[in-house]
Amino acid sequence: MFPQPLDVFKFGGASLKDAPAIRHVAGILKNFAGERLVIIVSAMGKTTNALETVARAYTGGDVEPARQKLSELHNATMTTVGELFGTTPPELAAGLNDLFVSVEWIFDDPPSESYDYDYDQIVSLGELISSQIVAAYLNHAGLPTAWLDARDCILTDNTYREGWVQWPETQDRINSAVPPLLDAGKFVLTQGFIGSTTENFTTTLGREGSDYSAAIFSYCLDAREMSIWKDVPGVLTADPRLFDNVSKIDRMSYKEAIEMTYYGASIIHPKTIKPLQNKSIPLRVRSFEDPTGTGTEISADAGDTYPPMVAVERDQALVNISTRDFSFVAEHHIRELFEHITTTRLQVNMMQNTAISFNVVVNDIDDRIDRFCQLVEEKFKTTVDRDLELITIRHYTNDVADSMRRGKVQLLEGRMPLTIQMVVKEVPVIKRKDV
Ligand code: ASP
Ligand code: MG
Repeated sequence: MFPQPLDVFKFGGASLKDAPAIRHVAGILKNFAGERLVIIVSAMGKTTNALETVARAYTGGDVEPARQKLSELHNATMTTVGELFGTTPPELAAGLNDLFVSVEWIFDDPPSESYDYDYDQIVSLGELISSQIVAAYLNHAGLPTAWLDARDCILTDNTYREGWVQWPETQDRINSAVPPLLDAGKFVLTQGFIGSTTENFTTTLGREGSDYSAAIFSYCLDAREMSIWKDVPGVLTADPRLFDNVSKIDRMSYKEAIEMTYYGASIIHPKTIKPLQNKSIPLRVRSFEDPTGTGTEISADAGDTYPPMVAVERDQALVNISTRDFSFVAEHHIRELFEHITTTRLQVNMMQNTAISFNVVVNDIDDRIDRFCQLVEEKFKTTVDRDLELITIRHYTNDVADSMRRGKVQLLEGRMPLTIQMVVKEVPVIKRKDV
């Protein structure tokens, strides 16, 4: 007898933002009662941002504001829970209280040496909270659901804030934890975004990493299909918050999805696609506002043709590097520069070199660029241009490219047969017409 097919669903913060939203999600899940379903949840609404503020305050030495902010979050959480259940189930209140107390305890000690470590111990709270609430609510709504701690499943190295998944261990752990719960006739509900090291310290997988968590579970469990439930009808030709006249793409290849998400199409976390592609598991991006809509299916290439698609990545910096002694950059320096790029974890989106200078366009995250510049200072002169946008157009036409450039200063351009990329000075967020 073949095991029954299994599906993986991921619900993001927007779909769980308040009590009515969680009720709506339970309504969607009712349609799947009795199926083998693994559900991955993000933190509710903007919880992760709030916890980032807490982490910054605590590590910056402002413990009181950190406590204050955390207690506001605790109160807001209990209000949502009250609205959701009427009377809060005592086990849930106790479970949530334990989670908040575990973070308050961190505040009793001074910050550790590593901001990234402290960040993960604090910010992971968001998914732990939301998963407890949603699991309790599904059980309350008559959908038997087992709560699973993703930290017992996803093993990472100790790169805090960007944990690297240790695949063979993770595969073993998921395969021993999940199937028995499904066999017991329950949905399995767990957290996105978090994992743990071999020493059981909590790690996170990078902002918006819940999609990736869902892909990890899908891969390890050989899912039939993975769905990401979002507040848009599917993958669109551009971000509707920035552009008018966007349209939905019904089908897309893995490769196309990787290209677009890597360059800032924020619809899916870029690491999500690869594990699915390796096992030919289709990914469906669908709308929780229109649960019967077909969304976008991302699967193997079927010779599809695409309209022009635009991704805009903000907070980019152009780092121009030249040698102090006027030697050519390419001669022996490239390897050295790449080594420093790796150690400072600069995320490079574009590179170009001329005889005496080397240009990299990178995500401007915390103090990485400054640390890089310091490391290379002795041999290289660097200049940094910040607050830029990287615009990537796949399947571009010259018309679309021209319309993107209009009214902006372009600092760099790269063209490949299907793709054009330009680095421009950021302009205020205004709707641009006709994509
Ligand atoms: N809650 C995390 C974040 O906001 C992970 C996620 O939502 O995917 O980044
Ligand atoms: Mg999210």
